[in-house]
Amino acid sequence: MSARLLDGKAIAAEIRADIARRVKASGRQPGLAVILVGDDPASHTYVASKEKAARECGFHSVVERYPADMAEAALLSRVAALNADPRIHGFFVQFPVPRQIDGEKVMRAVSPDKDVDGFHPLNQGLLLQGQPRFLSATPRGVVELIARAGGAAGKRVVVLGRSNTVGKPLAAALMNKGPRGDATVTVAHSRTPDLARLCREADVLVAAMGQPRLVKADWVKPGAVVVDVGTSRVEGKLVGDVDFEAVKEVAGWITPVPGGVGPMTIAMLMLNTLEAAGIP
Ligand code: NAP
Repeated sequence: MSARLLDGKAIAAEIRADIARRVKASGRQPGLAVILVGDDPASHTYVASKEKAARECGFHSVVERYPADMAEAALLSRVAALNADPRIHGFFVQFPVPRQIDGEKVMRAVSPDKDVDGFHPLNQGLLLQGQPRFLSATPRGVVELIARAGGAAGKRVVVLGRSNTVGKPLAAALMNKGPRGDATVTVAHSRTPDLARLCREADVLVAAMGQPRLVKADWVKPGAVVVDVGTSRVEGKLVGDVDFEAVKEVAGWITPVPGGVGPMTIAMLMLNTLEAAGIP
């Protein structure tokens, strides 16, 4: 293997330990709540990991679990209650939500001041204006990983995927002015022709498509930083968008799946909550 491993699991553990120290030193307790509707097994696993991390960081942690047939009005009323709860500094509704619930409406109902997921249109707008309040946890985790591999400033970055939750906010963050940005960013998607040629131009390549092992070794510039956000289940195994075994022989840095972006996402959610509570 020629690439150095960007060990998200180890970096995330350091970040959580630092958060726990800062919480202890503050004498205060940030409050994080999660609303989980329905019984999607992946969502239950994510929420359990978030709850564990919140406890580890010394947070006041609340998980509200509701059945899949919960009415939209009932969910909106729980959102309003958390908006008003002084012990809760940040919260989110775990997506996906069941069909009878309008997810966009729910995102807009969360107070932008407590929107630690960064999905509220106001917070996404602030990010585009170069004044982010909460950068969504996954893009923030990717930015942090890239920073540890030499940063993106002045580099050519290619982001594969244009979702509102990963690709777009990540591209905005890396393009914005500042030490964690200042990159020249290209965003590609399913209608982009000749992905391989485009990817070969990237000093930093981020894959966020949900297409198992699509990114091959000959798509990668030698020495490039490769961050794999993708997670798909293939024959019961968690697999990224990057053909890890082949690409690691070409890249300069690479994230594994699992153990790369996933744990960073959770650590960044904790960091957003710490900041929502105003703890230095
Ligand atoms: P999404 O909303 O489905 O968006 C996928 C994006 O990839 C879309 O922009 C799509 O293009 C593009 N795409 C799909 N197939 C492509 C192809 N063959 N070539 C080029 N572009 C292609 O997914 P998402 O929510 O952004 O998530 C992306 C992946 O990251 C998923 O595997 C998800 O599980 C994973 N994820 C991981 C974490 C974590 O913490 N590790 C967090 C969030 C997401 P169009 O826009 O043209 O359809």
